[in-house]
Amino acid sequence: PKPIVAVVGRPNVGKSTLVNRIAQGRDAIVHESRGVTRDRSYHEADWNGVEFVLVDTGGIETGRTDDAFSGRIREQALAAVEEADAIVFVVDGRTGATEEDEAVARILRRSDKPVFLCVNKVDDPTNEAALWDFYSLGLDEPRALSALHGTGTGDLLDDLVGSF
Ligand code: GDP
Ligand code: MG
Repeated sequence: PKPIVAVVGRPNVGKSTLVNRIAQGRDAIVHESRGVTRDRSYHEADWNGVEFVLVDTGGIETGRTDDAFSGRIREQALAAVEEADAIVFVVDGRTGATEEDEAVARILRRSDKPVFLCVNKVDDPTNEAALWDFYSLGLDEPRALSALHGTGTGDLLDDLVGSF
């Protein structure tokens, strides 16, 4: 079976933009299931001939900060740890680390799967200051990314397929 890569993070950080860029608009694999997996889509992808499946998580409404909302993000992270061979954790370089990022990081730190911490929306790649806030998450070295412009995605993909 192809390796599974789950893309996790709170709403609006750019997960779907990243997945669509990597999967290059290929259709999602139809996936029917209930509960926590309801809001996931599966996309075929490859990098230099190495094939894998990208899982986009989310579809959670933005703007909610209640316990149920945080619980859903944690559930998505737990499901990702369970099913994935590697995890891409996307955070927003414009907002800095939030409590929800912390909650996800706590789950991912306990996992023995490779975790790639991607600080997205760093549209100016020389803006290294955007990374500083995320060292506190206690994960892999944060890496700058712009899913919008595509900067940083090649390095991410090299390391990602290198982890399979
Ligand atoms: P998701 O909820 O995590 O799937 O986030 P989306 O992919 O839907 O993106 C949320 C918003 O952030 C959209 O308006 C995107 O266009 C924007 N966005 C995503 N990536 C970037 C980026 O690298 N730079 C900037 N400036 N905006 C981005
Ligand atoms: Mg999305």
